This record gives sequence, C-alpha cells and structure tokens, in this order.
Amino acid sequence: MLSYRHAFHAGNHADVLKHFVELHLLQYLNQKDKPYWMIDTHAGAGLYALDQGYAVKNAEYMSGIARLMQRDDLPAALAEYVALVRGLNPDGELKIYPGSPWVAMQVLRQQDQLRLFELHPTDSKVLHENFASAGRRVRIEATDGFAGLKALLPPAPRRALVLIDPPYEEKQDYQRVPATLKDALKRFETGTYAVWYPLLQRHESQHFAESLKRLPAKSWLNVSLTVNTPSADGFGMHGSGMFVLNPPWTLMSTLKTVMPYLTKVLGQDTGAAYILEAHEG
Ligand code: SAM
Repeated sequence: MLSYRHAFHAGNHADVLKHFVELHLLQYLNQKDKPYWMIDTHAGAGLYALDQGYAVKNAEYMSGIARLMQRDDLPAALAEYVALVRGLNPDGELKIYPGSPWVAMQVLRQQDQLRLFELHPTDSKVLHENFASAGRRVRIEATDGFAGLKALLPPAPRRALVLIDPPYEEKQDYQRVPATLKDALKRFETGTYAVWYPLLQRHESQHFAESLKRLPAKSWLNVSLTVNTPSADGFGMHGSGMFVLNPPWTLMSTLKTVMPYLTKVLGQDTGAAYILEAHEG
C-alpha cells in the first residue's frame, strides 16, 4: 500500500542522501554473520506514490531521485541505491519511492530484525499493511520513537543501526535528538546512530550539528549537502545532512567519491556544496 500523506517530500534530495547513507550502513553490518537490529524511530509509511496526490503537486522528487534514474555514470556505491529504486519501478517510469523501512527490508537477512516506530495513525496503518507478510522479523509500534528507542536499548544481539529522522516541525526535536542520543549512548555505547537533519536558516538548525559533536561518542561523521543558495527571505530548506555516531570506517571513503557527484547532479545553483568531516576520539 502506498502513502500519499508524506509524499510531499518523498524522493527529494534529502531522501537521496539519507537513504544512500542508510543503505551503506546496513551493507556494512551485513559483512558479519552476527545478527543485528535496525531501529527506525520515525519510520513513515514505507512506500510512497509519486504519481498521485501531494507528490505530483510538489514534485520534489524531480530535483532528487529523478535526476539519478537515467544516469549511466553513477559512482558504484550510489548505483546500488539507484538500482533499489529502479527495482520498484520496473517499467522505467518513476512512480514509487521507498521509505527508510523499505530500504532496510531489502538489505536485512533472516537473522536480523527491523524495529519501527511511527506515531501518525494513517502512516502506521499503511506501514503495517506494507509489512504484513514480513513475519516476526518486523515489529511496528504506533508510539513515540524517542521513548521507544530508550526501551529497546541495549538490543539483544548487541549490534544495531538506529536511524533518527524526526520531522523537525516542532523545534523541540532539535533538543530531543541530542538528549535521546546521550541516553542511548549510556545504554548502548557501541551502536551506530544516524541522524537526519535539515539545513535551514533558523538558529536551531544552524547549531544542531555542533550539539551532536559534543555527545560522548567515540567517533562521528557529519555529511551535508547544500543544493541551493539560502533564500533571501530566510525561508525554505536549502539542503540536509546526516550525522553518524560510531560510523564504519568505510563511510568516509565512500562519501568522498559520492558527494562531489551528488553536489554536481543535485545542485540547483552556484550555492551547491557539501561538507564532509569526521572525528575519531
Ligand atoms: N524515516 C522515513 C523515511 O526515510 O522514509 C521518513 C520519516 S518522516 C521525515 C517523519 C515521520 O515521523 C512522520 O511519518 C511522522 O508522522 C513521524 N513522527 C513524528 N513524531 C514522531 C514521534 N515522536 N515518534 C514516532 N514517529 C513520529
């Protein structure tokens, strides 16, 4: 079943960066047989229709995933993510875009588990329907993902990727994320935590990555993609970032190849740029 509610933004440049990084992090975890959990605190609906309703009105995917679909010069790591989206759209026309739980489901193995939180009743219902045949490997709760994460840590297999992708419509999200991570690191210090965040001209957004750098994690990596010059009126999202605590060593070298390409292909004006920085404690 497809969601129309959050299809406003589905497949935009922010989803491209987020889901590409998510895929890389999961593929890294797959390198060892030992099971792991993927915990998605703000899961959304799982699959989005691009050819109807809100998505058509905004068509944000046209300046995101649509720019990559026909390219034949994709860096190898990015090609795997694009292949996953192409797999959902076998006749070549871009009609469906996958959300983070669906991306995860393509990569998880029999021994792994997907733990999803989605607070909105409409989206959690669609999410349930999308994963109805997935069996016990997928558990969905229509509750607050910040509190839900706390209750799950440390995860039974002692290996996990946690994706934190709140809407940031309420400015409390900018405080809830570092507070949740501070607690999570105490419960499970070796987990990999990936936080998506928007680049906006508001104060909370501009200081957000700095607040995550102060967390007591052993290492972190911050990547952001600016697609256009911030607007003169101060409104709108000009890019987004992924902040990863305890990143795998492979992420930096992969992003060094992929980010110049994404900046060139998804950039909309001369303000297009990326930041890639990391710290090893
Ligand atoms: N992670 C999804 C993906 O990449 O496909 C997109 C998630 S969307 C940006 C944010 C979602 O969080 C929305 O579906 C919203 O209903 C949900 N949400 C908002 N507050 C929440 C909370 N406190 N706990 C769980 N879900 C929440």
